[in-house]
Parts: sequence; structure tokens; C-alpha cells
Amino acid sequence: MMLVLLGPPGAGKGTQAKRLENLRGLVQLSTGDMLRAAVAAGTELGRKAGAIMQRGELVPDDLVVGLIAERLDAEKDVSGFILDGFPRTIGQAEALDELLQSRGLQVDRTVVIDVDDDALVERITGRFTCASCGEGYHDRFKRPQVDGVCDKCGATEFKRRPDDTEEVVRSRLEAYHAQTKPLIGYYSKQGKVRAVNGMADIEMVQKEIDQALDAA
Ligand code: AMP
Repeated sequence: MMLVLLGPPGAGKGTQAKRLENLRGLVQLSTGDMLRAAVAAGTELGRKAGAIMQRGELVPDDLVVGLIAERLDAEKDVSGFILDGFPRTIGQAEALDELLQSRGLQVDRTVVIDVDDDALVERITGRFTCASCGEGYHDRFKRPQVDGVCDKCGATEFKRRPDDTEEVVRSRLEAYHAQTKPLIGYYSKQGKVRAVNGMADIEMVQKEIDQALDAA
């Protein structure tokens, strides 16, 4: 199964991808996570991508396509992939089709998680994670039970993404509407798109995604 998760930043793609990994034995490929790792490691790619990410713009197609190609080849014996945050432009989608074709694969399903822009700004600017185990929290919707202490592992350090400020989130949303949304049409023409309501509570979103994946 080759699943593309589409949706604006903060729609819950990462959360849903992690759940599907555990449930269905798929491997999540998140270009955002890969780029953040490159920035943290100070690699050449990280230096090129870091400033662009900080502005909320998209990094050049060839850089992210290269990352995905490497990972597709590195993962063996898996039942499939969840592409989270990739492709994000028509050029990336075309490059992906070529990469997959040459490996005898194709995109099987595209799930679009729809959320209103205003809800996204509130969701993203309030989110933070445990610096130790990565558990996710939110200033309004999910505070740790004991202030300053991670519910899951007891650590006391938390972090926020540097691109989760309101100004950068607005740029990221602009990039989504201008460059990524056209992919809904691209995959619709191939009959692969199912949309789910990302404004619903998390269990309902999960249920709708499961139905979208299990539908013929
Ligand atoms: P994300 O974690 O998916 O929200 O991605 C964070 C940032 O990484 C984005 O705002 C972009 O700057 C960059 N990025 C991640 N994936 C891609 C991609 N497929 N194409 C271009 N830029 C990307």
C-alpha cells in the first residue's frame, strides 16, 4: 500500500501516520522530519533547507525527491509507505510517479484531511512536544497533567518548532493553498482521492481514514 496523506500544516497528518504505522505495518516517510533532522545535524542539505523552512516556504523539489528516493530504497520488507508532507507540488507528484513506476509500484490511495485555516493557526501556534520522548501537547487542548512534567516519560524539557509562529504559519498555509492543493485535482483525475473531515474529533478522523483505506 502506498498512501499519500494530503492536508494543510497542522491537519493531523503526522498523528494519523504514526497510528497507521502501528496498525497496518506501514512506514511513515515525512519529508518535514527528514529536513529537520538534516538541519539539526548541520548537513549541507540542512544548511540549504533551514532558512527556507524558517520562512515557511517550500524547499526545492529536487532536494525532497532525493530524500524520498533514498528512503524508498533503504526500507526493505515493509508492507507499504505513508507519505506525510510529500508530495507538495505537482512537480514532486510527477517525480514520485516516475520513482514508483521504476520500482513496479504506484500511489494506491490519497487521503485529504480538511481543516479550516483559522483552526489551524490556533492548533499550530499552541503545540509543543516533550524534548525527550516526543509526546505532543497543546497550550489549550492538551496540557500535561502536572505542569512542566511529561505525562508519558516524566521529563521536564519541552520544545516548540521554530516555524510554528503565527507569521510563519500564515506563509506555510499560503504555500499549501498555492502549491499543494492542486494535487487534489492531480490525484482525483486518477480516482485515488478520499476526503475526511479533519475538524471532527480525533477518533472520528481515525474512523473516516480507516473507511477510506478499506473502501475498494
Ligand atoms: P512539515 O513538517 O511537513 O510541516 O514541513 C516543515 C517544512 O519543511 C515546510 O514548511 C517546508 O519548508 C519543508 N518541507 C517539508 N516537506 C516538503 C516538501 N515535500 N517539499 C518542500 N518543502 C518541504
